[in-house]
Amino acid sequence: MSRPGPHWSSLAKLMPSYRALTAVSVGNGRTTAFWLDSWLPGGALSIQMSSLFSHVTSPDVSVAHVAQHGLDGGLVPRLNRAGARERGLLLPIVQSLVLSEEADARALRPGCAKGTDLSSVGVYQLCHFGGVGAPFANFIWTSYAPSRVRFFAWLLVQARIHTRDVLLRKHIVEVAEAGCPICSAPLKTADHLIFTCPFAQQFRASVGATPTVSTVKLLHLMSPPGLVPPRTGPAFLLLCCWQLWKHRNAVVFQNMPPSLPRLLQLCREDAVPHPPPYYPQGRCRCVDSVPSRLVLHPPPLLPPSLLVKKKLYM
Ligand SMILES: [Zn+2]
Repeated sequence: MSRPGPHWSSLAKLMPSYRALTAVSVGNGRTTAFWLDSWLPGGALSIQMSSLFSHVTSPDVSVAHVAQHGLDGGLVPRLNRAGARERGLLLPIVQSLVLSEEADARALRPGCAKGTDLSSVGVYQLCHFGGVGAPFANFIWTSYAPSRVRFFAWLLVQARIHTRDVLLRKHIVEVAEAGCPICSAPLKTADHLIFTCPFAQQFRASVGATPTVSTVKLLHLMSPPGLVPPRTGPAFLLLCCWQLWKHRNAVVFQNMPPSLPRLLQLCREDAVPHPPPYYPQGRCRCVDSVPSRLVLHPPPLLPPSLLVKKKLYM
């Protein structure tokens, strides 16, 4: 069998975008990918049931094939707990599938563009849609906090860090294990970690941060302590959240007792990192008593060699 030409390879590369932009109304199910196409209201099963999908042996199998041969023939013999649960949810859907003689009908996903007819204009508009800026994006990505802290904060403000409520939702812990390991509150959420946990409240009082908001979604609206320069306020708040998270991890994974003095000491140490070679003064430098008077200096200018490199790619 000859190898497919470059035009087929180019078309194949577009398939993920094509599937992401379209939804299918199933007729005979022959041209609809069971796992990869959006043919159920919740979207593609590969995303909605990602645990079960990781056990699939033929990801491109059609809806018609699964309706005829069943679900289990395309799965590995042994499923993990999350996969077995998702299989239990999916089986009734497969068993109730009723196919017709009509061809499958594909259209742009509802809400993606004006109208639902699949057209090159609609696809072009969707591909060039700039999206909506998150209100907390500048707060995080323009702060002087280290990259690892900014990535953590990006997940934190969307309540996507692995707090116990998220682990419970993913069936990684049971209800009895979902409480706060520090204060024994029944459910540990990102809001609890940063705002409502008594330990977090003590920490905030120690660093002089007044809680002007009560949810991580609005962290970008929180005011830093008055002693922190405005330009470094976001970095200060993000570093405080990061240290709270690290302290919580030490309690959970290293069986260390909750300790406010230890947390404050970690803040002092983290505020003066080892300077990277191209930041001779250090990216974040703490002066005076930390953290109540934490001062973060902005990074100095990059050395000429890096500036030249940057220009080449502009
Ligand atoms: Zn707590």
